[in-house]
Order: sequence, then structure tokens, then C-alpha cells
Amino acid sequence: MGHTGFQVSAIGLGTVKFGRNSGVNYPRSFELPSDTEARQLLDLAKGLGINLLDTAPAYGCAEERLGFLLSKDRNDWVIVSKVGEEFSDGQSRFDFTPEYTRLSVERSLARLRCDCIDVVLVHSNGEDLAILHHYGTLEALAELKQRGLVGSYGISIKTLEGGLQAAATCDVLMVTYNPAHRIEEPVLKACHEHSTGVLIKKALSSGHLDSTEQDPVQASMNLSLRHCATSSVIVGTLSSDHLRSNVIAAHNALTT
Ligand code: NAP
Repeated sequence: MGHTGFQVSAIGLGTVKFGRNSGVNYPRSFELPSDTEARQLLDLAKGLGINLLDTAPAYGCAEERLGFLLSKDRNDWVIVSKVGEEFSDGQSRFDFTPEYTRLSVERSLARLRCDCIDVVLVHSNGEDLAILHHYGTLEALAELKQRGLVGSYGISIKTLEGGLQAAATCDVLMVTYNPAHRIEEPVLKACHEHSTGVLIKKALSSGHLDSTEQDPVQASMNLSLRHCATSSVIVGTLSSDHLRSNVIAAHNALTT
């Protein structure tokens, strides 16, 4: 993953659906999985060669569930979590101050039951430039990295300008990239130039796939994974069939 030293699978598993089923933009409503179902999905992911999990405090109880479910094999996974966004009572609120950043990382460490979070990203609210220049969020993450509580850090961007600036200074960026949303493509190029890791979010358009495309999953994987900047595509799913077909599509994208 860029210059971080982490070796990550082409597909990572996103865990929004492990912990939150309100205030989300998926085509269908869903129940949170039971512990058994979540554990089965993690075992399947591991069996398919996936070693990367993406979570966040804003994903309801997802971090706590991962802490419980991964207590025996935590070291087999590269875990990405976030700071800055909280979601409660159906609403998001944001706090990017250094004090809150430290508290949030300490709380994530306790929830995930680990001594270090491999990657921590700022969960942007769209004000990428303010986050980069005014709050001191990244400086707080740099200090946490120096203390060994965080392995690498960066930002999950929402703007082109923010992404272009963050590419030069962060270890890892999370970027939306799919056939219907390519506006941040220059950010990928900038990340490649700076050896900054790139995690793709919403590669499958959060499930709103193009019905005119013959194989929209394959088309999305081809786009994301064939870009030289991409470290991994984070796909959110609760379906073992979808997880398997995503891994096959990723394999096809990289080998044909
Ligand atoms: P996504 O991965 O593009 O799409 C997930 C949706 O697609 C789910 O509803 C899933 O439903 C469906 N899906 C998965 N595989 C499929 C397949 N093979 N065929 C048909 N449908 C399929 O979007 P996302 O969940 O919004 O984003 C992915 C991850 O990125 C999240 O879990 C999260 O970790 C991260 N993320 C981060 C941010 C941020 O930092 N601001 C924002 C958004 C997302 P099933 O459960 O039925 O498979």
C-alpha cells in the first residue's frame, strides 16, 4: 500500500453493513448480521485471500464487533479505521480537532482490542481543505503515529482539490472511483507519483450498478484495479456469493 510497507489484497472488505443500517445509501434495506454470520463472512474473506478490513466509528457498532470477532486472529488483518465522523440518533456530526482525534483513536484501539491501528483516515465531511490546513487533524495523527498507536494515516477525501493536496503529504488516501464517478481520477495519478497508498471506496457505486452494462461488477473492477495507483478496492457486502464473485472479478481484472 504505497510506501506504508503493508501488503494488502486487491479486495478489502468494507464493514459499514456490519454495524449500521440507517442513514445509508444502499438500494435495499438490510438487517445487521448476527455474530455467526459476520464471523462466517470474515472466515470466507480470509479463505479467499482478503487481508484488509475497512471500518470507522461512524459505522455504528462495526468497530466493537470486529474487536470481538477478531480477538484470535487480529494479526492476520490490516485494519483501516477513521476519525472525525460520529453517527448517532440517525445523524452524523463531525469533530476534527486534535483533542477529539486523540480521544477517537484511543477509543477505536479499545473497541478493536488492539495496540495499534494499521491505517487511520480522516472521515471527511466534504471540507477537505479545511481539514488539511486548519484543524490540525493530520498533525495529531502524525503524533499518534510517532507514539506507535497508528501505523499510517491519511484522509478519505470528498473533493478533487483536497485529494490533490493530500496526495503529497499523506500515507494513504481513500477515493471514490467507479464508472459513473471519475472526477477524482487526477488524485489517483498524484498518489501514484508520490507513492501514496490508494483505497477505492464505492467502486460498485454503493450497489447502484449500471443496469445497461452487461457485467457492471466486472466493468467496475476493471476500472479500479487496472489503475496503477490502486492499492486495494474496498467493497462492502454481507453476501458470501457477492464476496466470491467480487474476488473472481478482481482476479479477472488483474489477469486478463
Ligand atoms: P460499494 O462497495 O460500491 O457497494 C456496496 C453495495 O453493493 C452493497 O449494497 C452490496 O450489497 C452491493 N454489492 C456488493 N457486491 C456486489 C455484487 N457482486 N453484485 C451486486 N451487488 C453487490 O459501496 P460502499 O459499501 O458504499 O463502499 C464500500 C466501503 O467503502 C464501505 O463499506 C466502507 O468501508 C467504505 N466507505 C468509506 C466512505 C468514507 O470514508 N467516506 C464512504 C463510503 C464507503 P450486498 O450486501 O447485497 O452484497
